[in-house]
Amino acid sequence: MGIASIVFILLVGAASWLFGRNIMRIRRNILLGKDEVINDRKGERWAVMTRVALGQSKMVVRPVAGILHIIVYAGFVIINIEVLEIIIDGIFGTHRVLSFLGPLYDFLIGSFEWLAIGVWVACAIFLVRRNIIKLKRLAMKELDGWPKTDANLILVTEIALMTAFLVMNAADWSLQQRGVEHYVAAGAYPVSSTVASLASFSALSSGTLIAIERICWWFHIIGILAFLNYLVVSKHLHILLAFPNVWYSKLRPKTEMVNMPRIAGEVKSMMDPSVPPPELPAPHTVAGVEMTERFGAKDVFDLSWKSLMDAYSCTECGRCTSECPANLTGKLLSPRKIMMDTRDRVAEVGRVIDAKGKWEDDGKSLHTRITDEELWACTTCNACTQACPVNIDPVNIILEMRRYLVMEESRTRPALTSMFNNVENNGAPWAFGPDKRMDWTNA
Ligand code: SF4
Ligand code: SF4
Repeated sequence: MGIASIVFILLVGAASWLFGRNIMRIRRNILLGKDEVINDRKGERWAVMTRVALGQSKMVVRPVAGILHIIVYAGFVIINIEVLEIIIDGIFGTHRVLSFLGPLYDFLIGSFEWLAIGVWVACAIFLVRRNIIKLKRLAMKELDGWPKTDANLILVTEIALMTAFLVMNAADWSLQQRGVEHYVAAGAYPVSSTVASLASFSALSSGTLIAIERICWWFHIIGILAFLNYLVVSKHLHILLAFPNVWYSKLRPKTEMVNMPRIAGEVKSMMDPSVPPPELPAPHTVAGVEMTERFGAKDVFDLSWKSLMDAYSCTECGRCTSECPANLTGKLLSPRKIMMDTRDRVAEVGRVIDAKGKWEDDGKSLHTRITDEELWACTTCNACTQACPVNIDPVNIILEMRRYLVMEESRTRPALTSMFNNVENNGAPWAFGPDKRMDWTNA
């Protein structure tokens, strides 16, 4: 086994180990949330996942972005089938080991090339939309700093990877034409043969072409391994999480609100003695620490694990915010920011656990990032959940946080305070007792 093969194996092994470790940390962070059993209506869940995540049915509601996204998604997934060949070649020192597939191989390489140019063009258009046209939902304040850099970085990386792929094939094709040893004549090169002509590869020596082909080959595989590990600190984690997140998404009517099951059980038991009181749930333990049971959500531990998976699945596309009536009328609320803040907070909690080996209160919470003003601006219309291409539910987080404000902190809007008082005293939201309720009929 040559030195190149040994370096290659070490590289793939290290990248895979790092990726596995980081994925396990994200899984741990998601499971910091409260337990929630979601395994009903399985057939319907598979159908929704196939339609929404695989078929990207909600993406194409906005056709330009939707079609471009499908090209990037399909291109990226399909072209990476070729990684299988790169890995075998890298380990065994072979070259185009799958070329024995004959015409099928020609078809595959030709298709990869058309997809690669499609991905290249789509990413370039996405960069223009973000940085030159500055579409409103892609240039909002919450994207300043790292989120904007993250989005641009990934688009530039995809362009660089596709360029390396096409230049590698162009050099390979030129070497195949010359019958250079090791470069077996295999594959179809509809795009890279043009690249080779435009770049005048025919004027280069075979040694230079081999160097170009090898540099692009290594760049391509190192780029893919780096991308894999970059995913875990980027909004691009949605590439992996979109599928489970849609599978576990809410099948109930979007606007249906859930009571706290234990409190609802207590009330039912009080009103009907034949109903037994609900059983106490097992204590929610986080990294060895038993958490206080709360009404609503003060911090990420009080949310369901599904809300935390939602947060990690957010693509920061802003479709929710662009449909939000509160945001459109100038309120502070942005459902995208709610998801980004939740993800950033759970990642922050995860870092404390990694550093200290257990959870130690850091004096912060979700409410440190999300203000009361944002929370109370929500009309619970659910336009955001309807618009989200990966079925994320920001409203559940907003409602849980509001529930905490009302029930644990008594922090509400003045209009709501009098409504709550009226409900408590009069059994209705109005400032009249039940005995006055029909007085209007005498007017
Ligand atoms: S439910 Fe709330 S956050 Fe979602 S779109 Fe409506 S107002 Fe905005
Ligand atoms: S919640 Fe959904 S719609 Fe909103 S930014 Fe995230 S992925 Fe996009």
